[in-house]
Amino acid sequence: MGDFVKVKCVDCNNEQIIFTKASTTVMCQVCGGVLAEPTGGIAQFKAKEMEELS
Ligand SMILES: [Zn+2]
Repeated sequence: MGDFVKVKCVDCNNEQIIFTKASTTVMCQVCGGVLAEPTGGIAQFKAKEMEELS
């Protein structure tokens, strides 16, 4: 998996590029919904994963 991934928010369909190893909760910039939560390794994605970016 690459370091960044493009995800789509399930609530508002906003597309956002996030870090796969995020150490903090990643919020949707549009609706404030949770896109990913840190697990200590690869973040757990709540949003739909669109594509990996290298
Ligand atoms: Zn959203």
